[in-house]
Amino acid sequence: MNEPVGPVDPWDEYRRRRKLNLFAFIGYLPAVLGTAVVAEPLIHFPGAPLVVMVGWMIFIAVADVRHAKFRCPRCGGLFFLRYGRYTRYYDEPRCVHCGLPKYAPPVPDEMLPSYGFPIGPEKR
Ligand SMILES: [Zn+2]
Repeated sequence: MNEPVGPVDPWDEYRRRRKLNLFAFIGYLPAVLGTAVVAEPLIHFPGAPLVVMVGWMIFIAVADVRHAKFRCPRCGGLFFLRYGRYTRYYDEPRCVHCGLPKYAPPVPDEMLPSYGFPIGPEKR
């Protein structure tokens, strides 16, 4: 039962949230159209696509908020969101608070390899 647990990559949670968000966006049309095609002959309920549509929109909103609220493994702040100015960058390459590059180990800047350009949100 208790399998040995190796080191956990702190970015696994981010990858999981990103994949769920992509699935929510990409799967919307197939889910709604598939329900529209299948619902009438199978369950004789013409409102089924509407129910799936509303439910999937809620799913998209929840997945999007979960993706946006990913916390930085180093500073614990919201990786993509900076309060006071609700500007969101999906592809922000660094934490908007501490400048940790995406997918980098949560170590201080001094321990990260040099990228040849200054890192950190205040230096952009
Ligand atoms: Zn951070």
